[in-house]
Amino acid sequence: MHKESCPFCRIIEGYGDAEILFEGPDSVAFLDIKPINFGHALVVSREHYTDFLELPDQVLDDLTRTLHIVSRAIVGSVRPAGFNIFNNNGVAAGQSVFHFHFHIAPRFDGDGLKIRPQVKVYESPEHMAEYAKMIRDKINVNYKLGEQNESL
Ligand SMILES: [Zn+2]
Repeated sequence: MHKESCPFCRIIEGYGDAEILFEGPDSVAFLDIKPINFGHALVVSREHYTDFLELPDQVLDDLTRTLHIVSRAIVGSVRPAGFNIFNNNGVAAGQSVFHFHFHIAPRFDGDGLKIRPQVKVYESPEHMAEYAKMIRDKINVNYKLGEQNESL
């Protein structure tokens, strides 16, 4: 999706109707127009990044701070029984707007949202260790001695 047709860029630029809740240097929070429960908020990057992996460190830091500020305010005002923070990356994960955003969804007992998956079971400890090694090896390649390499 191009920046020009991105609904979140339009909101950040002041077009489009949005209930803005908070603005940080690199982040903006507003109400989701299709809430899971009333008070469901989105925390988005001020600049257009497609997904979580594209975020520069500084933007990630500010998004996390805004996430904390807005979560506290939702819990303190809407008084949900709990809340979920989540983020969808890619069509397969349910991403529908391709401008990075976290969801903060207030939750209530019996609100009908079910996000408990049918879990898989590793075949053996070795099978699980294989996945752990695969991921650790990639971390070691990408973050050798604190040096960041952005490649996947
Ligand atoms: Zn955008």
